[in-house]
Amino acid sequence: MPDYGHPLVFGTFITPVNSPAHAAVQRARLSEQLGYDLVTFQDHPYQPSFHDTWTLLSWVAASTERIHVAANVHNLPLRQPAVLARSAASLDLLSGGRVDLGLGAGGFWDAIEAMGGRRLTPGQGVQALGEAIDIMRGIWDAAERSPLRVAGEFYAVEGAKRGPAPAHDIPIWLGAYKPRMLALTGAKADGWLPSLGYMKPGDLARGNAAIDSAAVDAGRDPREIRRLLNIGELPAAQLVDLALEEGIGTFILASDDPTTLQRFAEDVMPEVRSLVAAERAARGTGTARARGAAALARRRDGIDYDSVPESLAARAVEPGDAQFSRVRSNYLRGGNPGIVLRPGSVEEVVDAVAFARAHPGVALGVRSGGHGISGRSTNDGGIVIDLGALDSIEVVDEVARRVRVGAGARWVDVAAALAPYGWALSSGDYGGVGVGGLATAGGVGWLAREHGLTIDHVRSVQVVLADGSVVTADADTDPDLFWAMRGAGGNMGIATSFEFEVDEVGEVGFAQLGFDASDTADFLVGWAAAVETSPREVTSFLMMGPRTPGRTTVAQVMAVVDSADPDRIIELLQPFAQVAPLVQQSVELAPYAQVMANNVRDEPHHGQGEPVGRSALVDHITPEFAAALTALADSGEVYFLSIRSVGGAVADVPSDATAYAGRSANFAVSVLGTRRAALDTLWDALSEHFSGMYLSFDTDPRPERVADAFPPATLARLRQIKERVDPGNLFRDNFNVVLQPVE
Ligand SMILES: Cc1cc2nc3c(=O)[nH]c(=O)nc-3n(C[C@H](O)[C@H](O)[C@H](O)COP(=O)(O)OP(=O)(O)OC[C@H]3O[C@@H](n4cnc5c(N)ncnc54)[C@H](O)[C@@H]3O)c2cc1C
Repeated sequence: MPDYGHPLVFGTFITPVNSPAHAAVQRARLSEQLGYDLVTFQDHPYQPSFHDTWTLLSWVAASTERIHVAANVHNLPLRQPAVLARSAASLDLLSGGRVDLGLGAGGFWDAIEAMGGRRLTPGQGVQALGEAIDIMRGIWDAAERSPLRVAGEFYAVEGAKRGPAPAHDIPIWLGAYKPRMLALTGAKADGWLPSLGYMKPGDLARGNAAIDSAAVDAGRDPREIRRLLNIGELPAAQLVDLALEEGIGTFILASDDPTTLQRFAEDVMPEVRSLVAAERAARGTGTARARGAAALARRRDGIDYDSVPESLAARAVEPGDAQFSRVRSNYLRGGNPGIVLRPGSVEEVVDAVAFARAHPGVALGVRSGGHGISGRSTNDGGIVIDLGALDSIEVVDEVARRVRVGAGARWVDVAAALAPYGWALSSGDYGGVGVGGLATAGGVGWLAREHGLTIDHVRSVQVVLADGSVVTADADTDPDLFWAMRGAGGNMGIATSFEFEVDEVGEVGFAQLGFDASDTADFLVGWAAAVETSPREVTSFLMMGPRTPGRTTVAQVMAVVDSADPDRIIELLQPFAQVAPLVQQSVELAPYAQVMANNVRDEPHHGQGEPVGRSALVDHITPEFAAALTALADSGEVYFLSIRSVGGAVADVPSDATAYAGRSANFAVSVLGTRRAALDTLWDALSEHFSGMYLSFDTDPRPERVADAFPPATLARLRQIKERVDPGNLFRDNFNVVLQPVE
């Protein structure tokens, strides 16, 4: 097996001199500019003329954008492994997954001892390195809930907390020459990193054979172990030989000379890449990512992992991967998908859709921001297409206030990007929500009564359809699809970007009022009346927990007044202040972007279990409905009630103008509970009060909900369009208009 099929990687090996202080950093940046994939530094913590390597790696990572950074190799005896693991994970998170880890057993023992390190024999050093690898991998395994215990002879941890999971699977490469180190490399490491200068003829082949046999003994595929090599400047032909006959996948050029780095990058690297690719094509051996036995064992049935398109393979996440814990769940639902594909371009979305199409029996979740309340942007054992990387925000026409936004962007970032122009786009109340899910369903936001729904601002939407075609739908091009994408988009295809016409919005009044709502029914009616009689500048949302007998029930009311005039804001809030006794109040004049930035945390989602929530659109909060809601709040089955005002500009749009049809409603009501059957029974009994349903707040998988959301004419038109654009019902796992049972 001379060629292990690893995609070629080129790196540089820069001396970490600290005088002049920035010399090594400049060479690292040059490496990135020249197209290298990796920059590495030796690690000699006892050497005063060198920067500390971790500090240097951090500085370099912050000064570059694309290139990976690694030590070549770390001096383990002076780097406590649990701390080293956390340092690496931190920098990996900060740098967007650009940290790799070279490790060595030690050497230069006098210097290590002089620094307070412990002298080990070569055999002890190898054992210590093996223990350190177990500790580091254990720290990174944030998905494992039990505390980490490794009872090593040289390194032991006793109940260490795990995490954070790094942003990508940090590979561990060992600098190894001797049999015991080679055996450890085969048994545990992700890569072998020797220097050609230290090797005699035949050493590479012997080393590979030793690693391969140790790998097989450990139940591993030898291709799991990348072969890296520190080299001087060599001609392309020799490197091609090393790649194809000795299995080298990563070449690291040791030089501090800018001219040498440039010459190699321009003359040698491209030639090696194309000659190796041509020879691999001729031999019929492509590139492949080999996975460990433990990871393979966690793969799910029904998914052909070997057919993941090459464009997606490197960023795809499977259950055995370190970053799986970061992508498996969404905001409210615990998930355990078989694979998460993370396309970085529209073409890659097309590839992902082709992969999904080839798996007709496998659940398919489409995820933008992962805040979907139904939770269908994750699943159990299925495919998830995660559009988080398509998050660009770009002003395309300043005069017409046209903005193009990627589906993976978050509303907090959209608001921040529009603020300098004095613009805003009403989205929802929470900045962490993703653009794709909200802008394909509706978008009930802080400016709804004045400016309508988010979908009312969509002027065109780019969609990848089930057959892989890419359509930019607007009022003239495929107007049917354009209509369907505004309210039922999740059924039709994957929206990759939207063009919005946004509004001029300056500072707004943002009120947060706490009311004694113990007389709940009266309070709800009073608040709703205040909303309906307010001018459109006012949009108000209400939230309440369960009612507890004998205790004051507090309702939180938020209101945005689209005015920068404090007097006008206070005047418009007066009717609300009179609804019930106020227990807390704050009113501020704030940019819309600041309102959207409230409480947003950029963390992976850790939803657990199944969300249970129901929702409805209602025209008015009548005394009867308010009494019924109060009884519901008393039932013990509801832990959260929210009501958002719509109406106003939302109702100006005819109900057949978009697939979102519930235009007569003044309120969107939703509740969250824990016991699905009990909540369904109580909620279904209220249906006489409902005039429709907004899909974004419901979790009920029963097909009837689709008919609640879409009146008969809307549903019939949706089915016709669906039949044309998705006849195989690929996009079926979230309120499917075809009403077929979900797999
Ligand atoms: C804390 C919180 C507050 C909220 N507040 C509001 C609010 O004030 N107003 C409001 O209107 N909504 C609100 N919502 C609901 C929110 O609009 C929906 O949950 C929305 O679907 C989330 O979008 P997402 O991209 O983050 O979700 P995801 O979980 O990524 O997606 C949800 C669903 O949308 C579909 N989908 C996602 N991306 C695409 C795409 N690119 N193309 C086609 N279909 C796609 C899929 O069917 C998917 O299952 C809130 C949700 C939460 C959790």
